[in-house]
Amino acid sequence: MIDQRCCNDCETCIEVCPDVFFHNEETHTIEIADLHSYPVEKVEKAINMCPGDCIYWESG
Ligand code: SF4
Repeated sequence: MIDQRCCNDCETCIEVCPDVFFHNEETHTIEIADLHSYPVEKVEKAINMCPGDCIYWESG
């Protein structure tokens, strides 16, 4: 999940993990691709590099 309230569109997450994060041209927000499985290491790296701590795992 991305907390849109603190996302500043820096696109660091897209640079780190373009398979998962993308820029939605219609809503102009960063979104997460709907995948069956996620590359945990890359997502963790994006989480660590996000300047606003906006990215987190969705439980369940
Ligand atoms: S790294 Fe964080 S602040 Fe930057 S675009 Fe991604 S979610 Fe938004």
